[in-house]
Amino acid sequence: MINREAWELGSRRSCIRELFAYGRAQAQKLGEEAVCDFSLGNPATPPPEEVRNTLRALAQEADPMTLHGYTAAEGAATVRRAIADELNSRYRGGVRESDLFLTAGAAPALTAVFAALTVSPESEFVAIAPFFPEYAVFSGVRGAKLRIADADRKSFQIDIQALDKVLTPATQAVIVNSPNNPTGAVYTRETLTALAKLLAARAARFGHPIYVISDEPYRELVYDGKETPYLPEIYPDTVVCYSYSKSLSLPGDRIGYVLVPPACADHDALLYAVAGAARSIGHVCAPATYQQVIERCTGARPDLAFYDRNRRLLWEALTSYGYDCVSPDGAFYLFCRAPGGDAKAFSDRAKRENLLLVPGGDFGCPTHFRAAYCVEEAVIRRALPIFRALAKP
Ligand code: PLP
Repeated sequence: MINREAWELGSRRSCIRELFAYGRAQAQKLGEEAVCDFSLGNPATPPPEEVRNTLRALAQEADPMTLHGYTAAEGAATVRRAIADELNSRYRGGVRESDLFLTAGAAPALTAVFAALTVSPESEFVAIAPFFPEYAVFSGVRGAKLRIADADRKSFQIDIQALDKVLTPATQAVIVNSPNNPTGAVYTRETLTALAKLLAARAARFGHPIYVISDEPYRELVYDGKETPYLPEIYPDTVVCYSYSKSLSLPGDRIGYVLVPPACADHDALLYAVAGAARSIGHVCAPATYQQVIERCTGARPDLAFYDRNRRLLWEALTSYGYDCVSPDGAFYLFCRAPGGDAKAFSDRAKRENLLLVPGGDFGCPTHFRAAYCVEEAVIRRALPIFRALAKP
């Protein structure tokens, strides 16, 4: 006998992975130049020089046992100290190394937090649609329910009234992802302050904390000097799930962390529960070599100019062809209304031209498609005539 739920998850790839695999197969058949793949958030820009130099230096200098051996489950203390120092140099809140639990990227960090906060099959989490589709998988590991609240369909900021309608006494946490995948929206201080006010009021009414799970793999990817407010400063019951995957172009060597800030409700119990939940899904420690890289490179930042060039090129071209796109202030995704309003049909049309765009159905927004512009500029230039031809429904 095989677990049915696990089989279902394993046998049906996500729509994004499906398109990516199709793109690889087409590229092998027709050549790389024939495919314009905007499916996956896999940065086409190398890790910052600082990271590459550190890797070289570590390979030559570091003691192999330190470099490749197990670390403590929560991560090496020196690494957590370096991360805490960097956070404290940017934000208020007095983070200590003991507030951090290092993981292999944001995905396991999120999964551990969801599991830690699931107290019964009635437990509920809320995502703001459009949302990263894996939330539905990660939040379900212990059988909790994922409820959806639509974002404001013009600004793609959180619609506070819509959110209020789905909060119940079983709500354990609201997932906030800013800068946002798939819309590129960055939640303003005003939005987050309104969110904090609502959650504080409902937590008081329900008689238990409602956490914010702040999913932040795109924190460092913000354009035009826009502010990305730090949620623990606005709402104390925030648990941060951070990742260096995108910001340091290390998605295959992922390091991330769970941060339970000192002022967070049930701080110690929650951190123990995160550690226990991670343990129960096989976590032993985050990759040791890359922990060392992070220790030495906490100040490294992505090549924003690379993404910004792509963002402007794609946004300006698509809007000039008549596409209705969300103005992306952060991350590296463009989210546009599909001509004709059916993103699946549009994505299928595009796929026939080997232009790979993710339809918004799995994000909870079937009228829109997502284009990941973390690609080489040449891919965008090759794709523009196809976008132009597809602009008419
Ligand atoms: N959260 C969001 C919104 C993402 O877009 C991704 C990856 O694309 C993740 C989490 C997972 O990140 P990681 O690769 O660090 O596990």
